[in-house]
Amino acid sequence: MKEHPNLTVADGVVVSLDYTLRLDDGEIIDASEQEPLEYLQGYGQVIPGLESALIGMKVGEEKNIIVAAEDGYGDIDEEAFQRVGRDAFPPDMELEEGMQLRMRDAQSGELFNVVIDQVDNEGVVLDFNHPLAGEVLHFQVKIAGLRAATPEEMAHGHAHDADDQD
Ligand code: ZN
Repeated sequence: MKEHPNLTVADGVVVSLDYTLRLDDGEIIDASEQEPLEYLQGYGQVIPGLESALIGMKVGEEKNIIVAAEDGYGDIDEEAFQRVGRDAFPPDMELEEGMQLRMRDAQSGELFNVVIDQVDNEGVVLDFNHPLAGEVLHFQVKIAGLRAATPEEMAHGHAHDADDQD
C-alpha cells in the first residue's frame, strides 16, 4: 500500500500512530513501543477525544492532546459499585482491595475485568468502572504513517495488518 503525500487524518484513513499516554501526575501508563498503533479513523477504534483531535494531521506531525474523562473512558459511575457476599467466591480464595478479577457476564457470556474496591466481614464491594474512568488523559502523539483503508477494512470497521487479514 503506497502512502499518499497529501493524505491527512480523516474518516476511512488507516493511521499509524506513535503515542505516549500519561495521567495527570505524569505517570506513563501506555505507549506504542516497537511499532506504532494502527487503527482505522472514524470507526471508534480509539477513544473519541483522541480520534477527533487527530483529524487533519499529516505524516510526521506531532501534537500534545489532553482528553477530558468524558471524552475518554467516562466519568466514574457511582452506580457501578456493587456489594457481593463472601460466598460468591471460593472459600480459599484470598480477596484484597485493588485486586483485579476476571468475570463472565451471565447474559452475554462476555469476559470483563472488575476491581475489588473494598473488603470487609460481609464480603466485597466490586468496582465495575473502566480502570481509566475519571482520568484526564495526556497523549503525546506523532503520525507515523497514513494510507487509505481497503474496502475490506471499511467493511470490517478496523485496520488490518499486512500479514493478518482478519
Ligand atoms: Zn477484519
